[in-house]
Amino acid sequence: MNKNYDKNNIFAKILRSEVPFHKVLENDYALAFSDINPQSPIHILIIPKKAYLNFHYFIENGSTKEIEFFWKLVNDVIKLYKISMNGFRIISNSGDDGNQDVPHFHVHLLGGKNLGKMIN
Ligand code: AMP
Repeated sequence: MNKNYDKNNIFAKILRSEVPFHKVLENDYALAFSDINPQSPIHILIIPKKAYLNFHYFIENGSTKEIEFFWKLVNDVIKLYKISMNGFRIISNSGDDGNQDVPHFHVHLLGGKNLGKMIN
């Protein structure tokens, strides 16, 4: 369970408001903020407020409410940016093979242009 969760990862610091960030939206269970190094015109990160290492730990250990409200927030960001018609991409990197840099579960929501077949 969340074996290697590092309480000092940058997203944990964002959740504790120890470092600056640009908040987009939040609810009781999740926070959405701008990626500091955007890969597309719209590049938002959505994270659960509780500590989960990656997607797998979140789904295994998160409550139904947390999981529901997490994905609701992703959809609220889609609505905020009005990208449901033009489209978007959701990515969640996990572990070494997924090249996950920040060890707190997050999804990238990318949009605002045609993203090609895949992000390199
Ligand atoms: P990943 O490789 O999926 O773990 O991606 C981590 C993402 O976090 C990258 O896209 C970074 O640009 C982004 N990032 C790192 N530090 C910050 C920060 N302080 N504020 C916003 N985004 C960040």
